Amino acid sequence: MVKKMSYKLPKLLYSYDSLEPYIDKETMEIHYTKHHQTYVDNVNKILNNTHYSTYSENKLIKDLDKIDIKDKESLKNNLGGHVNHSLFWLNLKLGTKLKGSLKLAIEKQFFSFENFVRLFEEVALKHFGSGWVWLINDLGKLKIVSTINQNNPLMGKEINGFLGNPIICLDIWEHAYYLKYKNKRIEYIKSFWNIVNWEEAERRFLLKNS
Ligand code: MN
Repeated sequence: MVKKMSYKLPKLLYSYDSLEPYIDKETMEIHYTKHHQTYVDNVNKILNNTHYSTYSENKLIKDLDKIDIKDKESLKNNLGGHVNHSLFWLNLKLGTKLKGSLKLAIEKQFFSFENFVRLFEEVALKHFGSGWVWLINDLGKLKIVSTINQNNPLMGKEINGFLGNPIICLDIWEHAYYLKYKNKRIEYIKSFWNIVNWEEAERRFLLKNS
């Protein structure tokens, strides 16, 4: 018997209004309870009664190219949506500071934190349409990249043209900012620096590359 799938919305570790004024309460609530929930529900529907229903989210993301399933494009979009949002919520927190080994690595790779911020914002602004901006760790080399739709950097080179472990990520779909920022994507992008969870980023940076 194939086990029934049961991915769940991860618990949010803060209240909907706790990232105000950078992310407003209404956007946070809709984004988490509606958008993210829909990705979770869709992944469960697609995987229900398949061999893949017992795989972890990360294994599915990494093995996506080997998976033989009818709704693969839909699986990629919805699984990516689930995994990316799970990473995104954890990567937000007020009042943390960049320090330690990640600070040194960013300064080494991008010459200064200010230059890193400038490059990240540039990638975010240049990205056309829906997607995500990432700082990734590619075997010790830090890279700023963007992915289309709900693609995740661990989906690999065949799908994205690069591979790496996510360190920080920013959702640049309009649903992530439109209620508050309207067409001013740059203001939303700049507000991100007030709420990056650098403690979580450091933890992810120290994970072994997969
Ligand atoms: Mn989103």
